[in-house]
Amino acid sequence: VLNYFETKCRASKEITDRAKTRIPGGVQHNLAFNYPFPLAIEKAEGAYLTDRDGNTYIDFLQAGGPTLLGSNYGPVNERVAEVIKRSGPVTGLFHEYELKLAEIINRYMPHIEMYRALGSGTEAVMAAVRGARAFTGKNVVIKVGGAYHGWSDTMVYGLRVPGTFRMNAKGIPFGATGSTREAFPHDLGLLKRKLIENRLRGGTAAVIVEPVGPESGTRPVPKDYNAKVRELCDEFGALLIFDEVVTGFRLGLGGAAGYFGVTPDLTVLGKAVSGGYPMAGGVGGRADVMAVFGSGLDGKNGAHVQVGGTLSANPLSCAAGYFAIEEMARTNAPVLAGRAGDRLTRGLQRLVDKYGLPYVVYNQGSIVHLECSGVLLLDMRHPVKLLKENKPRKRLMEQMSAAYAAHGIITLAGARMYTSMADTDEVIDDALARFDQVFAL
Ligand code: PMP
Repeated sequence: VLNYFETKCRASKEITDRAKTRIPGGVQHNLAFNYPFPLAIEKAEGAYLTDRDGNTYIDFLQAGGPTLLGSNYGPVNERVAEVIKRSGPVTGLFHEYELKLAEIINRYMPHIEMYRALGSGTEAVMAAVRGARAFTGKNVVIKVGGAYHGWSDTMVYGLRVPGTFRMNAKGIPFGATGSTREAFPHDLGLLKRKLIENRLRGGTAAVIVEPVGPESGTRPVPKDYNAKVRELCDEFGALLIFDEVVTGFRLGLGGAAGYFGVTPDLTVLGKAVSGGYPMAGGVGGRADVMAVFGSGLDGKNGAHVQVGGTLSANPLSCAAGYFAIEEMARTNAPVLAGRAGDRLTRGLQRLVDKYGLPYVVYNQGSIVHLECSGVLLLDMRHPVKLLKENKPRKRLMEQMSAAYAAHGIITLAGARMYTSMADTDEVIDDALARFDQVFAL
């Protein structure tokens, strides 16, 4: 594997070495890991990525999820280019694609009666929790341990609250998480106890969940989990927020809400909502709750919750989202990507059985998990133990990620794969032949 990187990826090494002098850590964003060094990508097309040395890879990273139609999708690019030709990427005033995007989201996700476009999933989560607090007049928001909701102070991965799981919390002031509580995945009894505890101290504004389970289903939840969380929210007068940054459109045009048949009060969208174009994020939901984001121009100044920024709802990302969602509906992309995910999962399971490996393979449609550490992190109740276990797991993931790359497959950190509409049976079977070579090592 190291030999592959040394001999075949010289141009990647050269430019990423140079980057170390001007970019902290040498990379800005790399979900595929950096071992032994990052690959620098030159070209993306459909199911494939090509690096600066001309090596081509099957791309199961899919940029972390947004490119459900396949990378660099021509029909959307062409229509976006028309919009840019006419208005440029930004004007700062209202334009029709803001409305068209909100309308098409509502068509496929009817519970999103109103929608506000923002700059990223992180921003949209910030808006959702702020809106929930403003609407309910309550402070506390409950998240689930290990769930990722972006990198804002109050929602970052692990909280700096004694006794809970800590991760990536450097630089966050202790007080920032004072109104955030964490419940452990699967433990609905604990969630209920937190809701009871909060009721005595002013109540819970919202419970926010990733509907497939923390970290895009790396810790999967039972099928009726969301319905039970919905019931608890209703019992305690808390809003239910679905973070559908990954699942929105990917699990179907109706997102996880449609997939599980559970209706949240607020939904956070990201990634696919801009079809792979930048500024992917927004919050939507019940009209009465969304009214808190009113502009203040409608005479309801009291309800005005401050969100948004210079590039929010720009024509580029709104038009790209609108065209992408139209294309996803026309082509049936979520179903095709899901079938590719099923085929990949079945094939990987056969290989795992063939070699008797201690790996766990499963998928939720086009989200495919290949847990190579033999430890499925279902239980977040023992933070210290898990932190210790996580170190060798991370190392193993790095090495697996590099081994897959050396055999022409890019994954998300060696453990997760997103399939897209571009992943035909031929692409999946080619990938499986490559996995076979890795597992045979
Ligand atoms: N929520 C979830 C479930 C995510 O997976 C992510 C990004 N991976 C985010 C929020 C944050 O979105 P963004 O990276 O666009 O800020």
